[in-house]
Amino acid sequence: MLRKMHTDQFNVTIVSPRNYFLFTPLLPGTTTGTVESRSIMEPIRKYCKRSDASEVDFIEAECLSIDPVRKTVKCFDNSSVKGLVSEFELPYDQLVVGVGADNATFGIPGVRENACFMKEISDTRMIRDRIIDCLETAGYPGQPSAEIDRLLHFVIVGGGPSGVEITGELNDFIERDIKKHYPSHLADRVRITLVEALPHILTVFDKTIVEHVEKKLRSSPKTKVWTQTAVTSVKERELIVKDQDKVEKVIPYGVLVWATGNGPRLVTKGLMQSIGADQNVRRGLVVDEYFRVKGADGIWAIGDCSVTPYAATAQVASQQGRYLGRLFNDLSEDMYRSVKGKESLSDMDKFVHKQPLFKYHHMGTLAYVGDHNAVFELKSADGKSSSTTSEGLATFILWRSAYLSKCLSIRNRVLVAFDWVKASVFGRDVSRG
Ligand code: NAD
Repeated sequence: MLRKMHTDQFNVTIVSPRNYFLFTPLLPGTTTGTVESRSIMEPIRKYCKRSDASEVDFIEAECLSIDPVRKTVKCFDNSSVKGLVSEFELPYDQLVVGVGADNATFGIPGVRENACFMKEISDTRMIRDRIIDCLETAGYPGQPSAEIDRLLHFVIVGGGPSGVEITGELNDFIERDIKKHYPSHLADRVRITLVEALPHILTVFDKTIVEHVEKKLRSSPKTKVWTQTAVTSVKERELIVKDQDKVEKVIPYGVLVWATGNGPRLVTKGLMQSIGADQNVRRGLVVDEYFRVKGADGIWAIGDCSVTPYAATAQVASQQGRYLGRLFNDLSEDMYRSVKGKESLSDMDKFVHKQPLFKYHHMGTLAYVGDHNAVFELKSADGKSSSTTSEGLATFILWRSAYLSKCLSIRNRVLVAFDWVKASVFGRDVSRG
């Protein structure tokens, strides 16, 4: 949105607890070092300093709450270095909420305390660190056999695209790098289990693709896919699952990755509560066809925090951002007059309704499933019948090219391409830290 906006026509302030943009579609690769984390990060400040963007301010802070009546946001410094001021309130005329989503845990006990998630760079660093730590700890002299099996059991919960992609990356890491660097009495005992509550994984994909991926993952002797198995509680070293016969099992694990989808963030929930009746969908902020938050004046929401007919993907969010940037440009004069009190709310409404509606261009869904294999699906315009599906090496090349072209900057593209070459020539780094 920022890149599209004519920022000389607005006073723009960006508030975000991290001062970089993160290209999340390549996040699973950072858990094993296929891609270095810095290669998919881009400093926001770089985009505040454009020639036409003299008015863009950036504040590294987390938004605690939004007051839709007083039109203010309350923010605080959640970083380790704090000054004398660490909380402040910011007034706004127009507010765009693009805070993404939190990890859905469905209130399952022990998840937040014991599992690793897959949303931020710090999460993927933790996964990588724990995997290697487990391997090193399993190698202690005198380590009991059952404890070695526990430490070397990596469990992924959630068979959506995130869970499958991380399973694929872990498989590659073990087959290509762990086996090379660790003694066989450790490397051969590593097991990966993907746990999914539904009868199949990747339910957003076509049946043929699902079958292909399930077969592919199950063909690896190290990987188990447990469908119709729901995790009901998590402890420090074991998780409890209920299988399809409702029988409870205790599964010891070394690393647990939780990828069971999205839920609203606290700030989003707070805003929904303050607005009240118009916000009655638990998933996130209900918006109209122009991404205006229903029941609030001057608040817009895009991306995973909003409830729209589209999937919660980066592809959708980036198109929404570009659309809203253009819409703001077209409405800048009217917005200015409305702030000055020269335009009433109903007039503003009229101007917005003259704007073209958002049109989503679906380029297809791609997911990496490991071992130089990716899957692709392009649904027909009605979104129901599947028109194109593909899998295998050619799709893997398509996946890499598509993701590379979508990286935010040329710098990111060069770094990611270099990382891929580096990983295939020299292997991934198995050092911890
Ligand atoms: P998801 O919601 O797509 O899948 C989560 C899965 O976890 C579901 O299949 C659900 O049945 C399962 N689950 C929930 N609770 C469980 C439990 N207690 N035990 C076992 N299984 C349980 O989540 P995601 O994969 O994180 O994806 C989130 C969004 O991001 C989706 O919209 C997805 O399309 C998008 N995404 C897309 C891509 C891609 O296009 N390559 C990659 C990652 C994410």
